[in-house]
Amino acid sequence: MGGMRQRIVVAGGSLAGHSAVTELVGLVPEAEIVWVTGEQHRTYSKPALSKEFMQARNELSELMLPDIGGDLSNLRIVRRSCASLDTANRTVTLDDGEKIAFDQLLIATGAQARMPGMLRGVGGVFPLRTLDDAVAIRESLAGRPKVLVVGGGLIGCELAASMRTLGLEVTLVERLDTLLDRPFGGAFGSYFLDLHRANGVDLVMDAMVERVSLNDGRVAAVELADGAKIETQLVVVGAGSEPCTQWLEGSGLIVADGVVCDSYLATSMPGIFAAGDVARWTNPIYDLQMRVEHWTNASAQGRAAARNLAASATGRQELRKPFADVPYFWSDQYGQKIQMVGWHQGHDRVELDRSADAPGPLARFYRDGRMIAAAGVNVPRIVMRLRRQIEEEARAQEAA
Ligand SMILES: Cc1cc2nc3c(=O)[nH]c(=O)nc-3n(C[C@H](O)[C@H](O)[C@H](O)COP(=O)(O)OP(=O)(O)OC[C@H]3O[C@@H](n4cnc5c(N)ncnc54)[C@H](O)[C@@H]3O)c2cc1C
Repeated sequence: MGGMRQRIVVAGGSLAGHSAVTELVGLVPEAEIVWVTGEQHRTYSKPALSKEFMQARNELSELMLPDIGGDLSNLRIVRRSCASLDTANRTVTLDDGEKIAFDQLLIATGAQARMPGMLRGVGGVFPLRTLDDAVAIRESLAGRPKVLVVGGGLIGCELAASMRTLGLEVTLVERLDTLLDRPFGGAFGSYFLDLHRANGVDLVMDAMVERVSLNDGRVAAVELADGAKIETQLVVVGAGSEPCTQWLEGSGLIVADGVVCDSYLATSMPGIFAAGDVARWTNPIYDLQMRVEHWTNASAQGRAAARNLAASATGRQELRKPFADVPYFWSDQYGQKIQMVGWHQGHDRVELDRSADAPGPLARFYRDGRMIAAAGVNVPRIVMRLRRQIEEEARAQEAA
């Protein structure tokens, strides 16, 4: 880009974009920052959408992140989406055709809900990724529908718990014979089955939705692969998510289930960084590439990518730092505080700890004798101590 002043474009108006812009406004006040949010709403936080907000225990205003502070005279907020990226000419084209030239770009376009083909566009069927999705689901609860949850991952299990907390009749269909298999590495399978059964969820395991029956254009029942039919008036789908990288097709950036980055969150093109659910970066703690879809990761990565971008924009090398982190997330189901730290993929041993007087189970995951992850229910202090231990052991190993 010509001219004196550098222009930084940040794409994505959720948590990672918000924390990046907050950091950039303070770090490079002389630069022009264009924040393309892809959102009509102010930045909101997503974890409560499936929990407190779904249970009508908090209101819209409580979801909102604070407005960006400081001198905002160089910040332009654009409530549109990026349609394509031209890395040769260093421009982003928006969905209304406007082209925005940039010197540096930070990609924080997150992820979107996956929707199985036969459920797409059917009345009474909803994914849950955005505030609009959550509002639509909440509105359709007024008629006290019989709810079918598709998928026993985090979103599906949290939705089932919220719907039961509201006293609704809930059936959950899951492809595997265990719940929350991927996030918790299979460690607490029977605990989660018991938890949801004890709270009245009708669990249909080892089952796939195959067809939908309609009544007046709205879902009336779903049919499973084994022919069983489940009547329902509301289907909520937690079938996983995929990174929002369609707009990067043809840009030349390396994309492989996320925007591929080095440990500095720098992409394969100079001056272009990524952060949050969309970024697949090399985490020095594990010396592995990973894409982490957690709140704390998006928040911390947004700031870290912004600092590395600022280093590239200003030459201030002291800002440049690899992003080394032990991932962390939590879930809340029926008031149980469920937490996971670390990266369990590739573990070769799990140690389960379930003493009779403990408030909930605890699991430690190991690879080659080294603890790489831990999970626990209602044991927050122990889980946080294990997080520090994982980090310290990794740093000691790196130093050695
Ligand atoms: C219902 C729900 C519950 C959750 N609960 C928890 C929890 O309990 N604990 C936890 O750790 N994590 C939880 N998460 C995950 C956490 O919310 C995410 O990790 C976090 O939102 C990621 O932030 P992000 O900014 O990277 O991406 P996203 O939140 O996905 O935001 C991406 C942003 O980019 C915008 N965008 C997309 N495409 C474009 C484009 N082409 N141009 C411009 N903008 C674009 C979108 O509109 C959006 O504003 C939950 C997520 C959901 C959906």
